[in-house]
Amino acid sequence: MKDDISQSNDKEPPGRRLQLLKEFHSAGRGFWHDVSNSDWNDWHWQLKHRITTPEQLQRLMPSLTPEEFAGAKLANTKLALAITPYFFNLIDPADENCPIRRQVIPRVEETHTASWEMSDPCGEDSHSPVPGLVHRYPDRVLFLVTDRCAAYCRYCTRSRLVSNATGYDFHPEFDKQIEYIAQHPEIRDVLLSGGDPLLLSDDKLESLLSRLRAIPHVEFLRIGSRIPTFLPQRITPELCAMLRKFHPLFVSIHSNHPRELTTEVREAVGRLADAGIPLGNQSVLLKHVNDDVTVMKALVQKLLMCRVKPYYLYQCDLITGSAHLRVSVSKGLEIMEQLRGHTTGYAVPQYVIDAPGGGGKVPINPQYVLCRNAGRVLIRNYEGKIFEYPEAEDGTPLCKPKEIKEPELI
Ligand code: SF4
Repeated sequence: MKDDISQSNDKEPPGRRLQLLKEFHSAGRGFWHDVSNSDWNDWHWQLKHRITTPEQLQRLMPSLTPEEFAGAKLANTKLALAITPYFFNLIDPADENCPIRRQVIPRVEETHTASWEMSDPCGEDSHSPVPGLVHRYPDRVLFLVTDRCAAYCRYCTRSRLVSNATGYDFHPEFDKQIEYIAQHPEIRDVLLSGGDPLLLSDDKLESLLSRLRAIPHVEFLRIGSRIPTFLPQRITPELCAMLRKFHPLFVSIHSNHPRELTTEVREAVGRLADAGIPLGNQSVLLKHVNDDVTVMKALVQKLLMCRVKPYYLYQCDLITGSAHLRVSVSKGLEIMEQLRGHTTGYAVPQYVIDAPGGGGKVPINPQYVLCRNAGRVLIRNYEGKIFEYPEAEDGTPLCKPKEIKEPELI
């Protein structure tokens, strides 16, 4: 892992850097070299041995900065500190701006709150008809199953409730959630999220999925999970065999940097794909993590190599204490501009802003339609060339399709 980290710095020529970032490596054993294979590969062992205190963190990583140590000390008042040993091994202790480190190690800046930041930036609580259920869009619901995760992302939109550090009273009642869905025939799609649904035992998850599958109007089930990248050991053959009974079932994983896509993750998501589960990835645009075209290109291309379709790229929500991780929308658009047309269409995620206060996801795209009137649409391609596409309501175009040179356009 270390070689990969040191070679993929931004001083490399872009092509070489892209190739280095796309290489698959194992997370290795690091400090846990004397742990048996059976323990290391046991997801319960990984959970039990998570790093959860500032002292543990400092012992394992003496290069912890004062900002990080102060952040770790305060973390449990906002969002708990927890990192699996597996994921900890991906951190480069020599790099203060390590993209893995920034995602899971708290910083004191988390306690700074800008006036526009919110504890519930997506307005989920105001769209919650019963505890643990968010019904924001007409035909689908978000079903929150737990407030626990394998590790905690420092930019988490649901940090008000996950890990229960703030004392949020989160008590999902599956009976009430399922009853609401059964009583609303317009709900055809249920997304299980949390916290992380894959932290439930196989039996508990199977029971929940069976009850949802028994509702005739539920056509489609989804699970949103960060487990494949935080704890790939959880993706056991038994879990995959159970999940495949509930098709159509999709899984959205969450990764932000190509280094998270290790050989362990490739094998774990491969098991899900072999069980016939379509896989998508959600990323959050984060400062010094993936606000770089080469990094993002490596991530999306590597996801395809893992049989995962890049699905959404989120503008970081206005969650309290996240300003140090937020990137401008202009930067996001610049990255999208460098993906569309420059790599496989399947590799291009949809960039979205979850409209503050509960407006839902709004797609954000570079400007490709330059103007549109009754007779034509002027469009721009990925190379900046401009074309005219004729259109007319009765199907008779008023002009012929053509490329337009700039002087003519002016
Ligand atoms: S895994 Fe998901 S729910 Fe859990 S802390 Fe990360 S973003 Fe939040």
